[in-house]
Amino acid sequence: MKFYWLLLLLAVASCNTSKKFPEFETIDTDFSKGRLNHKQTVTINDLEKFHGHLCDGLVVGALATQEAMKVLYSNQAIDRTNLRIISKPSPCLTDVAIYLTGGRYQFNTFYVDTDFEGLYIIQRIDDLKTVTVSLNKGVKPTAIDSLGNIAIQQNLSPCEIDNLRKLEDDFTQTLIQSDPTKLFTVKEIPNFQWSPKTKNDYLKIDILNKNLLDCK
Ligand SMILES: [Zn+2]
Repeated sequence: MKFYWLLLLLAVASCNTSKKFPEFETIDTDFSKGRLNHKQTVTINDLEKFHGHLCDGLVVGALATQEAMKVLYSNQAIDRTNLRIISKPSPCLTDVAIYLTGGRYQFNTFYVDTDFEGLYIIQRIDDLKTVTVSLNKGVKPTAIDSLGNIAIQQNLSPCEIDNLRKLEDDFTQTLIQSDPTKLFTVKEIPNFQWSPKTKNDYLKIDILNKNLLDCK
């Protein structure tokens, strides 16, 4: 009997953990020439499949978007036909940006920039309401960025890379167990001017160590 209680407790615990990952209700058109009535739920697993892996950057992007959408689409499905977004160049952040907002470079609804404060600037097309969302100072452990910079130089050993992965995975757990309103700051930007940039030579930093040997 005790064994079954343990199983039940474990099931409840894992359920609670998975529920902490953000989920998004979206609305799109229902076929290539269709009407706006197709609702779906996008999960962190969907984002992971699109991006290639689950990582702290993906979760930061998802939670940041969730906070921004509380202002732009409060208690409503995210209308992926009515948004445009500017993202910092991180491969994780940009993938979340286009997946969740429907913004695309070729339709002038997405571009990448480094010259603004925060992670994203997101704008509704119909009423031009615009918000910026930033990760609060002190939330991300500084070791992740300092070791990350050495990893970008390809100067971490295989075992050091594994250690960095653990730091990032621990940070992911911290993120999903925290109150997102304490992690991020969302600010409205009045009269925001959409000024697309075409720079496209950012470094894709999540593939630089792809041929690294295993830690022995
Ligand atoms: Zn990533």
